[in-house]
Amino acid sequence: MSISGTVTVKDNRYHPQGDFHRIEPATRIRNADEGWSLLGVTNPREMVYIHSYGGEAPFFEALGRGRLLATRCDNPDCALKGTVYQPFRIHCSECLGRNTVWDMTDLARQSATVHTFMVCERSGAFNVLDTPIKFINIEFDGVPTILMSYLSVGEPEIGMRVVPIFRTTDPTYTILDLSWVPAGTPVAGLPQGFAF
Ligand SMILES: [Zn+2]
Repeated sequence: MSISGTVTVKDNRYHPQGDFHRIEPATRIRNADEGWSLLGVTNPREMVYIHSYGGEAPFFEALGRGRLLATRCDNPDCALKGTVYQPFRIHCSECLGRNTVWDMTDLARQSATVHTFMVCERSGAFNVLDTPIKFINIEFDGVPTILMSYLSVGEPEIGMRVVPIFRTTDPTYTILDLSWVPAGTPVAGLPQGFAF
């Protein structure tokens, strides 16, 4: 049986329901080199981590609806007024004002290219992507920042035109709901659950 904590927020407070942590009996670590004497114990534990997205929540909600949100500084007194930030940046790093949310899905479809890439044959704990993972840094026309994501189809190349795809069927509400494929990839070639 797995633990099943869920959370809702109402009246500006967290309301957790269900199990959030479970402890299981320790197991002994024996040392075969010294007569199987006790060396220590393992401490099996399961826990649910409550991860608030804060001001970035609209970004993750939009992915499941097939939209890529960025932000833009609209402060008329800011030296970087009009600058678009992707990754989604809640506050402007120049004036520290609150940025405006801006839907850049169409811009991404029209201008995304691979800035650089990295292919990982191995990954860390809890990774759920298939290996080798094709990490790509993506640049967009008129956007000074680059976005880290992953290519789902084909082999990455610097300068390659790519288009975003979104996990609109059973979204996970994590960054994994966003991926990329080479421009011109047919719908039939997309991974399960993803759409343009
Ligand atoms: Zn600013």
